[in-house]
Amino acid sequence: MPPSPRSAVASEGDLYARAVEGLGFAAEMEASPCPICRETRARPRFAVEGIASPVIVCRGCGLGRFEPMLRAEEIRPLYPDDYYGEPGVKFQPFVEWMVRAVGARHIGFLSRGLDPGARVLDVGCGRGVILGPLADRGFEVHGVEVSSEASRGADARAEIRFAADLADAAYPDAHFDEVVIWHVLEHLPDPRRTLEEIRRILKPRGRLIVAVPNFSSAQARWSGAAWFHLDLPRHLYQFPLDALRRLLEEVGFEVSTDHHFSLRQNPFGWIQSALNRIPALPRNGLYTMLHRRGRDGGAPHTATRRALLWALGVLLAPIALLATVLETAARSGATVHVVALRPSDPAPSSDPSDRSTTPASSPA
Ligand SMILES: [Zn+2]
Repeated sequence: MPPSPRSAVASEGDLYARAVEGLGFAAEMEASPCPICRETRARPRFAVEGIASPVIVCRGCGLGRFEPMLRAEEIRPLYPDDYYGEPGVKFQPFVEWMVRAVGARHIGFLSRGLDPGARVLDVGCGRGVILGPLADRGFEVHGVEVSSEASRGADARAEIRFAADLADAAYPDAHFDEVVIWHVLEHLPDPRRTLEEIRRILKPRGRLIVAVPNFSSAQARWSGAAWFHLDLPRHLYQFPLDALRRLLEEVGFEVSTDHHFSLRQNPFGWIQSALNRIPALPRNGLYTMLHRRGRDGGAPHTATRRALLWALGVLLAPIALLATVLETAARSGATVHVVALRPSDPAPSSDPSDRSTTPASSPA
């Protein structure tokens, strides 16, 4: 049974409308060691409505994180069941169609160079938007999600395991040809541990594709506390690209390439961040309007405000597209995806055709 419109609207407001306050030039503080570079000096950067911990920024590597980190019981309520939407109708129908069309292009990227029948895992697969098209191309598709509610309506060909933590899914060693973790790493309390687990379950020369918002991007810096992709408080970490690359290398991956263009994520980030800088507009109001979670049309705005948000969105779209092209050229994408390889095992390979390069230095 659908939730009553009232409850759907109430939770929708809570999901994306939380105020985020910039803390300006707050004094540097002593924090717990940074999970990437171990530095303990950091600067408080943002305060989030309803969350006691500030988001701090590491002096060493620029990683943003809650200090102290949110506990499991604080994180759980940030993902009510309707966070995941109705199967097939996560957005308004037109937006959902666009998301799927752009997604189809994305599938080409994810499947490039994979052998026929390759085994692919999507960590945090949601409704399996990428797994269905990968199955169409003949790949063996697997997914991990926290709950059956999150993956309701996923493609029946996907073998989905439910686990709060990737390690709990208990995949065998060296099992996958590719692991995709797409806008999920920043939601997890211990990204290093998750990446270590991914390295374990990838085959040697297997490929990891990880996408995150880029905290060192021009869009992030221009937007400050108004940045759409902060997605606070659900994003527990804000990764600058260099910090992500460093973490991947420390865990034992060879970072291969990074990619800065995303038509799905980056232009909209410019539009919504610009709107968030206008105090009279509700935070993430355009996103909330496009994002249909209940069956009531999902718009907790008046008709006038909806019209205003549409008009501003349309006006800003060409500028946002141009900004996206420029940030791509400057290799400063608002969101980035990085391709990394699990090196061949240090033991001599028995396969004479193995064309691997020297393994990356082992993690400390
Ligand atoms: Zn750091």
